[in-house]
Amino acid sequence: MNRSPAVLWIGVVLLLLLPTAAGRLLLDLAGGVLLALLALPLILSGLGWIGWKLLQSRMISCTACGATGLKGAAVCAVCGTPYASAGASPASAAAPSPPASDLTIDVVAQDVDSDS
Ligand SMILES: [Zn+2]
Repeated sequence: MNRSPAVLWIGVVLLLLLPTAAGRLLLDLAGGVLLALLALPLILSGLGWIGWKLLQSRMISCTACGATGLKGAAVCAVCGTPYASAGASPASAAAPSPPASDLTIDVVAQDVDSDS
């Protein structure tokens, strides 16, 4: 009974070495399993990244305390600040910033003292 595993391994090696249909099937099976094992972490990380982005798009951060909550909630779960009033802050509502195309940047040339 001690020799049967060796005989089994020799049979498997012969199947792999000899160009038979069974050996080719075993090689294809091993290649498929290896490919699946290599691709599975990539697929899982991609799905995790998509899920994280979906979750992030449904989150809102409190402007008063910075805590993160769901968009459907009316008030912050940590400090109780209403999200609606926090979103329309008085500073951005009263003075909307001018468009960037109307702004100019003044560049003043200066001499650099190179003697020192
Ligand atoms: Zn808060």
